[in-house]
Amino acid sequence: MRTCVGCRGKAAKSDLLRVVEVEGVLVPDLRGRLPGRGASVHPARRCLDLAERRRAFSRALRVPGPLDDSRVRAYVGGLAEQRSTDQHSTRRDSTESAFRTVPESRSRPR
Ligand SMILES: [Zn+2]
Repeated sequence: MRTCVGCRGKAAKSDLLRVVEVEGVLVPDLRGRLPGRGASVHPARRCLDLAERRRAFSRALRVPGPLDDSRVRAYVGGLAEQRSTDQHSTRRDSTESAFRTVPESRSRPR
């Protein structure tokens, strides 16, 4: 179990995004392979906001000064978009296929 630097909640390592600092920029470590000290955070805007307000990344990574979290935010924003479009397309597909399967094929014997 790891602690999210944003909400301080505990979560499985796989549920948290590992973030490392490279020259003042926070970088999402998607494969968990980047060297150096990492901070764990939920891939959620709420937790990034909390972490930013508390300067939790600087503290967790032991880096003085402000850190640029735009890359992490872009990544989290992309995740949220993907999720909403997935749900949308799944819902539409199931409605369409339900319509398609009903008529014709049974009324016309081959
Ligand atoms: Zn969190």
